[in-house]
Amino acid sequence: MIRYVGYPLGYLWASPNSVLGIAMMPLVLLSGGKARFQWGAMELYGGFAAWFLRNIAGGCGAMTLGHVIVARDRKMLNFTRNHEHVHVGQYMLWGPLFLPMYGLSSFLCWRAGRNPYLENRFEKVAYGLYPCFGEPPDEPEVKA
Ligand SMILES: [Zn+2]
Repeated sequence: MIRYVGYPLGYLWASPNSVLGIAMMPLVLLSGGKARFQWGAMELYGGFAAWFLRNIAGGCGAMTLGHVIVARDRKMLNFTRNHEHVHVGQYMLWGPLFLPMYGLSSFLCWRAGRNPYLENRFEKVAYGLYPCFGEPPDEPEVKA
């Protein structure tokens, strides 16, 4: 039952956030980046996505906006995909409230003198399940 009702409702509930990610797609594609679908989410990486993460999003390797995962490059995307999908699930639960609640959690951590990113309650869940710290390991070359 939850598969047929909850899942579509989750997509709809998360969609205001997904729209923010989808808005990046033309810039990513025009700047040499790539877009694809995997595991029910859109993935954007390279080009503008890399620039955005480096210059606007504080230098993180990947981030999630609803059902859109934005990553620096394909390697980082593969490294962080499981972690980012925890956030996709959080967006499906919290919908338009996710970003304000995420910000509130970070603010409360900062105010209490704790790390506003790593101690954020949404990140603690995602890192608890999929700790993808640092740089991704080298991947084997794919021969065409
Ligand atoms: Zn995260």
